[in-house]
Amino acid sequence: MLPYRTISEKQELIRSGKLSLLANVSFYLSRIRELASINAFTEVFESDALSVAEAIEYKIKSRRHGKLAGAVIAVKDVLSIKDKTLTCSSNILKDFKAVYTATSVQKLLDEDAVIIGKTNCDEFAMGSSNENSAFGTVKNPHNTDYVPGGSSGGSAAAVAAYMCDASLGTDTGGSIRQPASFCGIYGLKPTYSRVSRYGLTAFASSFDTVGPFSRSVEDSALLLDVLSGYDEKDSTSVTRQITGVYPVLHEKKKFTVGLPKEYLTEDLNPEIREKVDEAASLLKKAGHSVIEVSLPHTQYAIAVYYILATAEASSNLARFDGVRYGYRNEESRDPAGMYVSSRTAGFGKEVKRRIMLGTYVLSSGYYDAYYRKAQQVRQKIASDFRKVFTKVDLLLTPTTPGTAFKIGEKNNNPLEMYLSDIYTTSANLAGIPAMNIPAGKAKNGLPVGIQLLADQFNEEYILQAAMNFNKL
Ligand code: GLN
Repeated sequence: MLPYRTISEKQELIRSGKLSLLANVSFYLSRIRELASINAFTEVFESDALSVAEAIEYKIKSRRHGKLAGAVIAVKDVLSIKDKTLTCSSNILKDFKAVYTATSVQKLLDEDAVIIGKTNCDEFAMGSSNENSAFGTVKNPHNTDYVPGGSSGGSAAAVAAYMCDASLGTDTGGSIRQPASFCGIYGLKPTYSRVSRYGLTAFASSFDTVGPFSRSVEDSALLLDVLSGYDEKDSTSVTRQITGVYPVLHEKKKFTVGLPKEYLTEDLNPEIREKVDEAASLLKKAGHSVIEVSLPHTQYAIAVYYILATAEASSNLARFDGVRYGYRNEESRDPAGMYVSSRTAGFGKEVKRRIMLGTYVLSSGYYDAYYRKAQQVRQKIASDFRKVFTKVDLLLTPTTPGTAFKIGEKNNNPLEMYLSDIYTTSANLAGIPAMNIPAGKAKNGLPVGIQLLADQFNEEYILQAAMNFNKL
């Protein structure tokens, strides 16, 4: 489909005059038009993208360019770009324009990336299927009867269907890894705090992370390095020195990899189990050791995540009240009525459900039973990981319990939808990095993904180990 596999190969082709960036951007724009029914984008920056292409091409040819020069990147529509619409795929923000640019996006721009548009997602990043968008469902490019995963479904579909080179997503409970798995691409959730959250619309602030989708391990590493580092505008952002992964990506290390028995239970789809086993034997053949380990509190992850994430969401979303941001219902004359009618009309069903759940678990009569208890169990889950990472460098697990499901299949059963996040939420509870690695297809023709996890700030191990799977 393209004459290059990675961003660096693309730069080489542009430099030697074998590829025109303008033609490449036009190619992607035409893919976006042709595949409009996938519904991956909420907005396409056609003229902006074309107008920067020539200048960046010149920079590449004169060898004075940023690390991402020429890379065409799409951005999930929960991240701000100054003067562009920031909808969060919600009616409440459908006409809202951002007044500043998110640090993560600014870092891409500073390294000469071309931003091609904003991608569709579940409303305020709440969901696992992209069916919760006010702008309609995104479709899985491998089979349009199926969901692309969520909440960053548009970002995943855009990369999988060659509408851009890479994209940004956000991962609060799996929203990068699960859609990457359903769409057959790489999706990396960094360590909490490694990438600035400034300019990301908060869903659950102690879980939210920003990370890349890509079609190669190399591009994931390159993007991670550009995105990482301290930001004075985000008080939770990392203060320690972050070293680059891209320069050491090809180093050959021998890892000890753990297979957590709690992730490989009877109810796991056998074809996915097979892919995990295949990955484990490939690692062994490459000289790594693979051992069984235990993460005893895994069974509580979904319950704990959905208590804490909804609690934080109920507080974060209180700001959308018709006064300062977005949609206001003008019919009511008193302020309280205005808040209620604006929020009633502006938010979708799932967002309302989360606000109610979150308000309930924080309410004085139930705080101890739900919120406090969940905080305690979160610590237990984090400590399971701390303990296991004294024995192993990496964990290998499935990313999802099954391949992509049909559009509409789980939409009326929120509990079943929540349960599909079983293998991804733990990493967010512990703040550790994790990545989806595409592992071929199941018999139904849909992609299967495997997941690698590491201790905090050990993305390097994940990416180095991921290089072993190029042929899966
Ligand atoms: N699917 C999870 C949820 O609905 C995760 C969402 C996310 O990571 N943004 O909350």
